Amino acid sequence: MSADDWSALAGVSSTVLALAAVVVALVAFRSEHRRANFEIARVLHHDLTTGEVAAARKLVGSLHYGDFGSQPATADWGDSLTAYFTLLWCFERIEAGRGALWRKGVRNGRRGDDAVGYLDELVAWHVAEYACGFAIARRKLADASAAEVSDDKSAAGFHRLLLALQDKGLVDRTYRAGECPGAECPCACHQQTAS
Ligand SMILES: [Zn+2]
Ligand SMILES: [Zn+2]
Repeated sequence: MSADDWSALAGVSSTVLALAAVVVALVAFRSEHRRANFEIARVLHHDLTTGEVAAARKLVGSLHYGDFGSQPATADWGDSLTAYFTLLWCFERIEAGRGALWRKGVRNGRRGDDAVGYLDELVAWHVAEYACGFAIARRKLADASAAEVSDDKSAAGFHRLLLALQDKGLVDRTYRAGECPGAECPCACHQQTAS
């Protein structure tokens, strides 16, 4: 081989090495990126199950599962109303976070993101429960205060999340945004009443 051949070979080798380094860096970047997305999904779910939201769930749960006319787990209906909105706003954050993860995935050429699927699996049963729970709690709060609960904007994120999870087949389609479908409702609260 001539000196020129050796030099050309060395040039090709260094190009291949440089490309390999780029591929390794890209894979590392993607995996770090993926880890960060899963961490966002984990934190969004954590928000739903801890702290002030967990406390709010107790109050909304007592409205959801308590008999009509019974007092909630607090003497103050104002506390129940605060809990109702605290929980709605938590779902609003989850829906906004889910949307941001989804758009990130689309920008990277994927239909959504693995982390969105992970988040959807985590929150699906919570969304199903509160599809009925919010509707029942809302009626009881309205009865107690003799005024409708004005929650259109606060509930919009939860409704979008419900529809998205129903489209993916993760939440029963019988549930409706903003109202309990009555006799057909699959929620456990109705089975409890019937027994
Ligand atoms: Zn129901
Ligand atoms: Zn229910």
